[in-house]
Amino acid sequence: MARILAVTNQKGGVGKTTTCVNLAASLAATRRKVLLVDIDPQGNATMGSGIDKNSIEHTVYDVLTKKANAAQVVKTSEAAGYDVMPANGDVTAAEVELMNEIGREYRLRNAIKEVAVNYDYVLLDCPPALNLLTVNALVAANGVLIPMQCEYYALEGLAALMNTIEQIRETVNPSLEIEGLLRTMYDPRNSLTLDVSRQITDYFGEKVYRSIIPRNVRLAEAPSYGVPALKYDKSSRGAIAYLALAGEIIRKDRKAAKEAVLA
Ligand code: ADP
Ligand code: MG
Repeated sequence: MARILAVTNQKGGVGKTTTCVNLAASLAATRRKVLLVDIDPQGNATMGSGIDKNSIEHTVYDVLTKKANAAQVVKTSEAAGYDVMPANGDVTAAEVELMNEIGREYRLRNAIKEVAVNYDYVLLDCPPALNLLTVNALVAANGVLIPMQCEYYALEGLAALMNTIEQIRETVNPSLEIEGLLRTMYDPRNSLTLDVSRQITDYFGEKVYRSIIPRNVRLAEAPSYGVPALKYDKSSRGAIAYLALAGEIIRKDRKAAKEAVLA
């Protein structure tokens, strides 16, 4: 069964999509089977994986509203090296249509269940809001990966996210854990970056990944070619940092699996 990670932070521009695309590519490079589910109507993860969001028949909207099943919507991106359940502006309508539906928080979980057996990792790229789409991701996931930009307001809003995670854990998804906090767009020449980074590690301790994603222009350029940085400039610092993160996640999961067997 796949490990399902929701990549979330209700702040925009902190590196959620960049993390999804580049972590997916890095996990695929280590021979893991990966599905990237784009649930952000902006469709940036879809485009960044080389799939044109304007010329697709089905999106995650069809899955959430039960107009199609997951297998019908998943596309393989040869350019990126993993599978994608794409999104575009249509996804906005799902939130409205689901508003009065019973079990609306479970739609993504139930849909993913169908296809999860085919993958080692499923990454969920969330929109920048704690809305019904994000709640669907948190209900479907077994871990939450929180990218954080090391800047002054980084910790702001985190309490609201932790609260939501706690509520979901108490009600519908007791096994949901914080998989890790990821420092993104890290610039060690900036003393504020170092301060905020220290605050994050003081507060979250072991939950903070050792791997740090540097500010790297290749990560920002790659999406315009519709590929992860690994396929655009594999020796770039950005691509290497995401490979290291993939290694750290795989080791962590292996250790957890071993401990589960022994327990
Ligand atoms: P989010 O999905 O959280 O809104 P994105 O991943 O789209 O954030 O990142 C926001 C912007 O910052 C994008 O233009 C992206 O290319 C750029 N970016 C993200 N991570 C980095 C990085 N490590 N170095 C340089 N630019 C980055
Ligand atoms: Mg995004």
